[in-house]
Amino acid sequence: MIGKFRSGDEIFYGEIENGRVYPQGVIHAGTFELSELRVLPPSSPSKIVCVGLNYQDHAKELSMEIPETPVLFLKPPSAVIGHEDKIIYPASSSRVDYEAELAVVIGKRCKNISAEKAEDVIAGYTCFNDVTARDLQKKDGHWTRAKSFDTFAAFGPYLACPDEMDVADAKISCRLNGEIRQESSTSNLIFDTPYLIEFITEIMTLEVGDVIATGTPSGVGEMQRGDIVEVEIQGIGILRNEVV
Ligand code: MG
Repeated sequence: MIGKFRSGDEIFYGEIENGRVYPQGVIHAGTFELSELRVLPPSSPSKIVCVGLNYQDHAKELSMEIPETPVLFLKPPSAVIGHEDKIIYPASSSRVDYEAELAVVIGKRCKNISAEKAEDVIAGYTCFNDVTARDLQKKDGHWTRAKSFDTFAAFGPYLACPDEMDVADAKISCRLNGEIRQESSTSNLIFDTPYLIEFITEIMTLEVGDVIATGTPSGVGEMQRGDIVEVEIQGIGILRNEVV
């Protein structure tokens, strides 16, 4: 497991083992307790490519048809926050939802990658909360405003490398104030990660650190100010954020 951390003025990546962080590169001689470091989002994406309606049951609950090809939309990098950062409830919305998702972080600049070669360009997997102003999504028809507020792209806490988890069958859940709201497995994805990388890189170049959010299962619902929302994926960990 790899994380991005801050200690004082220094920002670095480190490997996490049994609660200790081993900084990568040559700048550090020592190691840290995980608890003494600030956890940062595990990459700085140039773009976040999101997939809508990628679980059958979620398409059903929104009364939308199962798409024949992935429905893509973008979130701006300005929306990024990390583990334990705060989600800011915007004044212009009165319905803000959580969406627990598996995210892929890209490790190599790439274009036109086949599904068979997809793993070569993946740095790792992490948890993602595709925070959505549901009322504005319905009102606008387009999704840009509803998905793009600052703090609406929470991801982390760490990156699990492809050999550290079973990404094709990992439990994914969302808890609101400790209560389970979403529970599924990545085995229920309509379009899996290798296919998504092939589909997306046929359209656009992906840069190192770019994020693909693969869609949410059923059970989406609203959050209120003061709520604690947690996205947990088996083999990765828990992404926790407070809504303010
Ligand atoms: Mg989503």
